[in-house]
Amino acid sequence: MNDGDFIKFLGTAGARFVVAKQLRSSAGVYIRMKGKNIILDPGPGTLVRCAKSKPAIDVTKLDAIILTHAHLDHSNDVNILIDAMTGGGLKRGGILFAPEECIHGDNAVVLPYLRDFAQDIVVLRHNQKYNIDRLSFSTSGKHQHQVETYGVIFDHYGRRISFMVDTKYFPDLIKDYEDSDILIMNVVRLTPHESGKVMHLCIDDVKEILSRINPRKAILTHFGMTMLKAKPWVLANELSDELGTEVIAASDGMTIELGD
Ligand SMILES: [Zn+2]
Repeated sequence: MNDGDFIKFLGTAGARFVVAKQLRSSAGVYIRMKGKNIILDPGPGTLVRCAKSKPAIDVTKLDAIILTHAHLDHSNDVNILIDAMTGGGLKRGGILFAPEECIHGDNAVVLPYLRDFAQDIVVLRHNQKYNIDRLSFSTSGKHQHQVETYGVIFDHYGRRISFMVDTKYFPDLIKDYEDSDILIMNVVRLTPHESGKVMHLCIDDVKEILSRINPRKAILTHFGMTMLKAKPWVLANELSDELGTEVIAASDGMTIELGD
């Protein structure tokens, strides 16, 4: 029934230093669900990683691109992917989903000349349901991040596969992501930044969230320097032991099968 559906982490880098030095790849996530090919948050290097992936991911066959927010490490390759998805505008196809801010205004990240190429550009708003044919996903409430940001929750045959992307911790996250079967979390920091101004999750936030939501599986990704130094796989093992929930640290190229 699940038809070989999977998620592939093309990159697992978060925060400027890890991205700038490419200590981990900053490519996005490739999602294959219900016959649809989707790229979520195409950061720098996504196009190249798709081509070099084994087997290669054919970006001319994408059905949709989803941007959760405008930050460069999530949106850098969106223009080249729209161009590829639409054959340079010769075959109008594929859908771009993105918050309003990514499409219009001073921080828009999609080049105006490419906007007519896609079959549709759908503006993401908080707590709404969207469809790519028979595949549906919903957005979370608005995240607490520097720019307009929404998480994405896929409905995969009744199971919730959730991407809790960049955000500071706030209690409503629990309600928005409850009943997640697989919960993918962007964990940039080991501990909160001393300035108090960094709007990202740290390991204590992850503990709080997982103990409340209790998904079947949690996957940590989007690592900044403090997380990499602390070895994400060690932290994930410790969390698994402490919480009794399976916690995995993503690595570049890691694939998660979505079968039964
Ligand atoms: Zn961000």
